[in-house]
Amino acid sequence: MTKFVYLFEEGNQEMKSLLGGKGANLAEMSRLGLPVPAGFTITTKACHDFFTHQRQLSNDLCTEIDLHIDKLETKMQKKFNDSKNPLLVSVRSGAVHSMPGMMDTILNLGLNDHTVDVLATITGNPRFAYDCYRRLIQMFGEVVMEIPGKQFEAYLDKLKQTKQIKQDTDLTADDWRLVVKEYQKIYHAATKSEFPQDPKEQLYLAIQAVFNSWFNPRADIYRKLHQIPSDLGTAVTIQSMVFGNAGNTSGTGVAFTRNPATGEASVFGEFLLNAQGEDVVAGIRTPLPLNELATQLPDIYAEFIQLAHILEHHYRDMQDIEFTIEQEKLYLLQTRSGKRTAAATIQIAVDMVQEGLITKQEAILRVEPSTITKLLHPVFDSTALSQTQPIAKGLPASPGAATGKIYFDTEAARSAKERGEKIILMRQETSPEDIEGMVISEAIVTSRGGMTSHAAVVARGMGTCCVAGCGQFLIQEQAKRITYATDKQLFEGDLISVDGATGAIYLGELKMESSAENPALKTFMNWLTAFSQLGVRANADTLKDIQTALDFGAEGIGLTRTEHMFFAEERLLKMRQMILANSTTQRKLALSSLLDMQMQDFTELFTLTAGKPMTIRLLDPPLHEFLPHTAAEIAIVAKEMQLSENDIRNRLADLTETNPMLGHRGCRLAVSYPEIYQMQVEAIMKSALISEQKGITMTPEIMIPLIGSATELHFVKKNLTDLIQQLLLEANSHMTYKIGTMIEIPRACLTADEIANEADFFSFGTNDLTQLTFGFSRDDSGKFLGTYLEKGLLTADPFQTLDIAGVGSLIEFAVNKARQQKSTLKIGVCGEVGGDPLSIAFFQKLGLDYVSCSPYRVPIARLAAAQASIQQQS
Ligand code: ADP
Ligand code: MG
Ligand code: MG
Repeated sequence: MTKFVYLFEEGNQEMKSLLGGKGANLAEMSRLGLPVPAGFTITTKACHDFFTHQRQLSNDLCTEIDLHIDKLETKMQKKFNDSKNPLLVSVRSGAVHSMPGMMDTILNLGLNDHTVDVLATITGNPRFAYDCYRRLIQMFGEVVMEIPGKQFEAYLDKLKQTKQIKQDTDLTADDWRLVVKEYQKIYHAATKSEFPQDPKEQLYLAIQAVFNSWFNPRADIYRKLHQIPSDLGTAVTIQSMVFGNAGNTSGTGVAFTRNPATGEASVFGEFLLNAQGEDVVAGIRTPLPLNELATQLPDIYAEFIQLAHILEHHYRDMQDIEFTIEQEKLYLLQTRSGKRTAAATIQIAVDMVQEGLITKQEAILRVEPSTITKLLHPVFDSTALSQTQPIAKGLPASPGAATGKIYFDTEAARSAKERGEKIILMRQETSPEDIEGMVISEAIVTSRGGMTSHAAVVARGMGTCCVAGCGQFLIQEQAKRITYATDKQLFEGDLISVDGATGAIYLGELKMESSAENPALKTFMNWLTAFSQLGVRANADTLKDIQTALDFGAEGIGLTRTEHMFFAEERLLKMRQMILANSTTQRKLALSSLLDMQMQDFTELFTLTAGKPMTIRLLDPPLHEFLPHTAAEIAIVAKEMQLSENDIRNRLADLTETNPMLGHRGCRLAVSYPEIYQMQVEAIMKSALISEQKGITMTPEIMIPLIGSATELHFVKKNLTDLIQQLLLEANSHMTYKIGTMIEIPRACLTADEIANEADFFSFGTNDLTQLTFGFSRDDSGKFLGTYLEKGLLTADPFQTLDIAGVGSLIEFAVNKARQQKSTLKIGVCGEVGGDPLSIAFFQKLGLDYVSCSPYRVPIARLAAAQASIQQQS
């Protein structure tokens, strides 16, 4: 028979798939001898079993649960329904992956009309006993019977209003007794049955409800968002209760072993005295910062700090800990690796290496490459900030900066999003129902709740800007209105700016700037190269882009496109003359003016890259991109060339192509008009020689696009090498140079060995190779690629993530063939996918030399390259 139930002392942290994250860590903490209330966990296998038995608990399972309740009763010396010492438990869900707030927990189970009085008597605290009971009725009602929580809360709010009381803690025992009566009525009205009095019945119903909650819509959304498979199931943990609401020496709280927003290495958390369970995170009362506990209960605070240290060292990662204090005794109720901002991720990884807690390799593997993207996100411009005043301030719950229009619910946000608006979601507090609205928002603002409120935790996880607990805003969700500064108002659709780093909120739009220096990020990025085999270069054509790429640590430039240099106005005219020329003499004339311009370009580029490798691609696009279209443009060119407009029109007709993607372009141009590439190569070499004289040692890398056969490359290259030899001879220089090719035509992959004979290097142009392999045009595929993704015909956009099975096979084939021919051939990749972590892992496997991607992706690519090589070695 399968074992479905494990006592805490039978489990450990490795058993997450069976016991869920929460259960496995409770087991681990018990094993370490830490103060954890006794309990047991029903496995995810049992959850499976439940779903395969028409959502019924099997007899075997019930027997095993009963047996473990007996064990718990013995251990606690308490009994279900006992008149002296009644056992109360919590029923907690726990999936393999932590899914905060997604599944439901029931506390104080075991209370009924009888045991509540026993509890009141033995504790001498009827107020506490009835508070527990009303919580049970509400949680049980909500989770098991699906009674809307609002029904209970509305009554409590009304009672507090009539009694003119703000805090729950001000209600008396009699008040709570009244609340219990009323809650039982609400329960009865909604379910047409009495609140169950038998603890075992409560328990079974609760366990079933937790299992069922695995498939509730909120959990579904969360799983989709985080790509968690839906067949994992959840475990259920049954744990004897400890009471944070037993008076003012009791309390409950949540703490992180390091600051989850900044990564600062000191314990950070929040707590409430005389409170239970979700009070801290629900945002109903505003919690106190953890260091307050040092004043209120100094011994407990000291003990907690020590336990936090033990846990962090044991797990070797920042922990998110839930704790409860019952009458000056501290209990740990949960620990897990804490969610953190991008900034904190890097800070903690770097600090832990420096503290000797983890190795550099571990630190590198722990940082998800997208984290780096988040760090490069913009913040508000400091001058713009200094010239304006916030209209309100809340807690800086999740960093980032955003401007958008305010909406008060998911529905309105969704339609605004469809209209293409940027959204700021405004809520009193968020709950899991708001997930969709949060996902599509640029920022989230709440008027209640602290740094560990639902809004704050979820926003940090998503990397979305969030300001929580902004009490200066009176948010009226129904009326879709905010009142602030006594008589000022904001309405749905109004534009505001939100600063998640400071908690400030501004009217209207604020200018953005890129993120400031981050010393930890610098240290972290500096570690990467030593662990990487793949080099990372950038695709960059302008001085600004090249500078950005170098600042981000690109080791060189993998693709400089020369066509971009021809689009400036006076150059375009020369370019047009060159293309439209109907004799070689005319063409050479136009080319000679272009030569000077190109030399200027290259000299500047070479000065900036200062000898770092830089691959320059000769002219690639189809000529028609440069041609004049309007009558006015035609007139100008005609005049300049001393031809009639009609001559120009005739020439244009000659040059028209039906499918220029496959047309007269790239090396094909060089076959027809060798003088174009000759001009470019002359410019490159002359500029290089000038740079050499200035003391820059360099090896120009000249790349010929669109090669499909060795004969093409041989033909085009021959023209160029003769010229280069002559130039070097004239300058009396021994400069080395390389002539290589883009591999972007499937035929080139298939004949890579022959082409390798002619080439000094290969660079896979994955954009065109993908277009030609699929027969999709990159520009048109936007129209139907989305449908392919939706219908599951493709798992990812092949222009973003390499299609490993198809395009990847071609690349692998080509690499093998080419390296058999020429084992030292340098091979890189210069397409969009060169910055994609999954694709990078594949390129690492193939043993390529480098990837080249857009400048802003360089840091991500560098991290992905280091991770790929560390993973391959282990
Ligand atoms: P979640 O997965 O939503 O965090 P938990 O199972 O951790 O749900 O329960 C939420 C809170 O309920 C805990 O943080 C803790 O404060 C309280 N809680 C759970 N079990 C117990 C218990 N045995 N005794 C006291 N409080 C408990
Ligand atoms: Mg919890
Ligand atoms: Mg191309």
